[in-house]
Amino acid sequence: MIVTRFAPSPTGLLHLGHAHSALFGWRKARAAAGRFLLRIEDIDPSRCRPDFESAILRDLAWLGLDWDGTVRRQSEHLAEYRAALDRLSGLGLLYPCFCSRKDIAAAVSAPHGPEGPVYPGTCRGLAPEIAEARKAKGDPYALRLDSAKAALLAGPLTFADEREGETPVRPGLLGDVVLARRDAPASYHLCVTLDDHLQGVTVVTRGLDLFHATHVQRLIQAVLGLNIPRYAHHLLLTNAAGERLSKRDGALGLAALRDAGRSAAEVRALAGFPD
Ligand code: GLU
Repeated sequence: MIVTRFAPSPTGLLHLGHAHSALFGWRKARAAAGRFLLRIEDIDPSRCRPDFESAILRDLAWLGLDWDGTVRRQSEHLAEYRAALDRLSGLGLLYPCFCSRKDIAAAVSAPHGPEGPVYPGTCRGLAPEIAEARKAKGDPYALRLDSAKAALLAGPLTFADEREGETPVRPGLLGDVVLARRDAPASYHLCVTLDDHLQGVTVVTRGLDLFHATHVQRLIQAVLGLNIPRYAHHLLLTNAAGERLSKRDGALGLAALRDAGRSAAEVRALAGFPD
């Protein structure tokens, strides 16, 4: 059975781009008599707000979407993320990184990836006794995935995308990504990969802006022995200037459109899904 999901972060109000993504996943599930799940990605306490979550649920229901089962909230599953981090650590695939954003930006040798500078690996070779001493001193640190080591363990990988076909994984594409943040117990890549597995998602439906993330997430699936979903990365809606929609395009927010008198059917059509 097909299981898809929509996984918004409650860091703002939904706009037409989110509506496109949600409808894309919902239609795919419903057309195949499958399940459509809703997950709230609220792992980042500094940016997520409960009032945004309520607004998301309200806007989706207004749009005519329904979801199966209960809503999964990442903030309620920290022990599961911790256990996955412990397994990765046991495999020797994590290392503590004490670099601040400023340190990373200042690293002249930082190689460039598709999403900007890639972490140059400054802390990868840190002697364990130095790392332990810094931890004991209370220096804040993140945990990074040693992507080269993980790639060696996993061997060659691919993922199946409905638009792009069978795609070879480039394990180092985004560098050694952070899996546990200094200021949050886990990171986007870890939580999303584990959740898709635990929720039995069979087709990950999301925007093409996350295509690069799939390379990392496929690697995490391999080393943790998780289920391997298919992927359907969809095109992104753009504003009049041809830029990807963002919170700045307030007028294209679902609540704003509703308040301006648009019907749910009109908004579904604007989001690319006429009835
Ligand atoms: N929470 C992510 C976002 O709002 C989406 C996660 C995903 O679909 O993989 O961008």
